[in-house]
Amino acid sequence: MKKNSPILVFCLVAGMLLTGCGSGTKTETKKNEPVSNKQQYINIATGSTSGTYYPLGSAIAEILNKNIAGVNASIQTTGASVANINLLATGRVDVAFVQNDIAFYAVNGTELYKDKKVVNIKGLASLYPETIQIITLEKTGIKTLADIKGKRVAVGAAGSGTEANARQILEAYGIGYGDIKVQYLSFGEASSALKDGNVDLAFVTAGHPTAAIQEIANLEKMVLLPITQDKADIIIKKYPFYTKIVIGGNTYKNQTGEVPTVAVMAMLAVTDKMNADTGYKVARAIFTNTDKIKAVHTIGQKITKNTATSGMSIPLNEGADKFYKEK
Ligand code: GLU
Repeated sequence: MKKNSPILVFCLVAGMLLTGCGSGTKTETKKNEPVSNKQQYINIATGSTSGTYYPLGSAIAEILNKNIAGVNASIQTTGASVANINLLATGRVDVAFVQNDIAFYAVNGTELYKDKKVVNIKGLASLYPETIQIITLEKTGIKTLADIKGKRVAVGAAGSGTEANARQILEAYGIGYGDIKVQYLSFGEASSALKDGNVDLAFVTAGHPTAAIQEIANLEKMVLLPITQDKADIIIKKYPFYTKIVIGGNTYKNQTGEVPTVAVMAMLAVTDKMNADTGYKVARAIFTNTDKIKAVHTIGQKITKNTATSGMSIPLNEGADKFYKEK
């Protein structure tokens, strides 16, 4: 995705500066230098290739490259939300996809971030609901989460938000990690492991339909387990970022009935190093080009300026906030 190599850009910028100094040009001239002569790298952390962050991230990088002068945006695959917060906190990426629950825990130093508060991240945009999808194969005979003691469970990649969701949801069913055989797998790995009979159940927190689940549903008789209303109420009471959601019939092959479950929100987070001007431009580029996002995934329909602050769980970048307040 990179347009120019960093070395080439460095040489160009250094060359321009040297020419400026050598010719005795005063600072007045430099002030008028078009900003577009400087490359601004925006590295975006997504998730695994079989999730939803990845295709949306690649559409967003393309939008930024086409619509903001001087920006060179690229994406990287990661373990998702928790890994992404760490990448942001240490300044290794500039923008990251994260779940709103995980971002809240990080900024407030609660749950998995107890005693590990992350102070340098801001919100850029709230995006779309990420559905907690609990998948098994018909042949396992598993009909409810209450049946899974002793089973092999893919709880998400290490460093994923999915893993935190799996733990919280199992807790509502009275199941701890000590009661199951936990496996830390990406969505794609979990889907293959289900197919090969190496796991019995997998958790996926992602916008639906999710590529990894489509893959397994196309190959095997896949079953989505519901989170019943009574359990959803218990989960939401303890962890208020969850909301109820229904996976419509025929979202996946041979899945005819509706499946009630819960969801959190996907959002974009940035470091507090991103200034208001860039935050404004990035938000404006994204929300004036949502047609490009819709083209890569149907969940893109949920990404709108009107809902860009709904469910936002951490303070916004000032420039993005300004953009959302404009009519
Ligand atoms: N929400 C997931 C997580 O943080 C990743 C979803 C995706 O890759 O689309 O674990």
